Amino acid sequence: MTEEQLPAAYTTAMRELLGKEADAFLESYNARRTQGLRFNTLKSLHGSGSKAAEHTVSLFGLTPVPWCPSGYYYEEPARPGRHPYHTAGLYYIQEPSAMSAAELLAPLPGETVLDLAAAPGGKTTHLAALMQGKGLLVSNEIHPERAKILAENVERLGISHALVTSSTPGELSRRFPEVFDKIMLDAPCSGEGMFRKDPSAITEWSPGHVEMCAARQWDILQDAYLMLKPGGSMVYSTCTFNASENEENMARLIETYPDMELITEKRLWPHLEKGEGHFVALLRKKAAAEAAQIRSKRSSNRGKHAPKTGSSVREAYQQFQAWASAELPGFSAHGVPVLFGESLYLLPELFSQTLHTGLLEGLKVPRAGLHAAHLKKNRIEPAHALAMALQPGQAARSYDMEADSPSIYAWLRGESLPVPPELHGWTLVTVDGLPVGWGKASSGQLKNHLPKGLRILKANIEEQ
Ligand code: SAM
Repeated sequence: MTEEQLPAAYTTAMRELLGKEADAFLESYNARRTQGLRFNTLKSLHGSGSKAAEHTVSLFGLTPVPWCPSGYYYEEPARPGRHPYHTAGLYYIQEPSAMSAAELLAPLPGETVLDLAAAPGGKTTHLAALMQGKGLLVSNEIHPERAKILAENVERLGISHALVTSSTPGELSRRFPEVFDKIMLDAPCSGEGMFRKDPSAITEWSPGHVEMCAARQWDILQDAYLMLKPGGSMVYSTCTFNASENEENMARLIETYPDMELITEKRLWPHLEKGEGHFVALLRKKAAAEAAQIRSKRSSNRGKHAPKTGSSVREAYQQFQAWASAELPGFSAHGVPVLFGESLYLLPELFSQTLHTGLLEGLKVPRAGLHAAHLKKNRIEPAHALAMALQPGQAARSYDMEADSPSIYAWLRGESLPVPPELHGWTLVTVDGLPVGWGKASSGQLKNHLPKGLRILKANIEEQ
């Protein structure tokens, strides 16, 4: 791409912002985009996962991303998004500069963390890994279709302590005032850092669009502020370069809310670093803040999405536990059981300890923690998410295939497989020891229970 293909108003604004450096910046549009993947340390640091990760590094000729210990660059023609390890959740395809945001927020295991604009899940899956799967992660995405993709990615990476919600920031801030130790706000933006990767972003760009994005970000920032605990911290990030959506919004935030401090703000520029570019800022809310007075009323919106509680949940949970004690001898269920229709979830314990399940009433919650099982008449069907959250060896039966075997590709296409006749019942299907889903074995056949939407290595919309 050449400078002439960029909007003139954009290049003028960048020349004003960057002065002498602008030539080098605009020149970077002639270079190829950078591509990366980030290992899912929930899987890549243990047993078969670490062997598979080592193999991935040599298979795709990966080189490290300096600002993210689990991040790597790959070069075309490598296609790690099409490999069975991707389906197994061993890694997430992510633009390298975007890996800086979760590293800056640095959530700890056991904390209560919100990712306010989370789809398709790059930052959420990174936050979940840094939290080592412990604590509570609320991953929210306003658009229901994108929230579904987010939920799929959360499941694929075997994350069991995340609640996926699909709500507006305003609705969430009414329910969760001053609840979160850490907040990630990776805001919807004008996407100037996307031009190289996705030239269609250029046609959407205009000075008016930048203004609209900055105003929308300001609205979302105020809701994020309301949800941050005094003493908590927040990362605000965008993949755009203009100052109105970045530094100017930060300046307005600390001016409007004197209990907010700007700890640092950084730019990753495509002409200075190997990445498409990002803005990241770390903010802290002072402890014992004036914010304590800005509590907004909890919503009394009660609606049709309410989880069921009471005896039906107890019965469902007992049924699941009876099934799990026979079928998953190495697995101990954590979390508070909740029932949405026929789906049994295990809600992260921290949610019910610090909040209460009533807060979920009326909220769209595509995933209320770990999806454990589907309840059928008089029987249990284990959920795909449960398979993805298991460690190898936790299931009574498993069936392993090598990553380069034709049978794993047949499996990922949704085909049933011939298996030894003595294998009978629910079987954890693995690739080089990493779970990829459930099969049900009977009479020498392993029936495929991979969810239809995940079949045949479709390139998940996960990159951002
Ligand atoms: N954090 C994501 C990741 O790492 O994969 C990328 C998030 S993307 C930059 C911004 C998200 O904000 C989009 O998924 C978009 O649907 C969502 N969004 C759009 N308008 C919004 C609004 N008014 N409030 C909250 N989120 C919004």
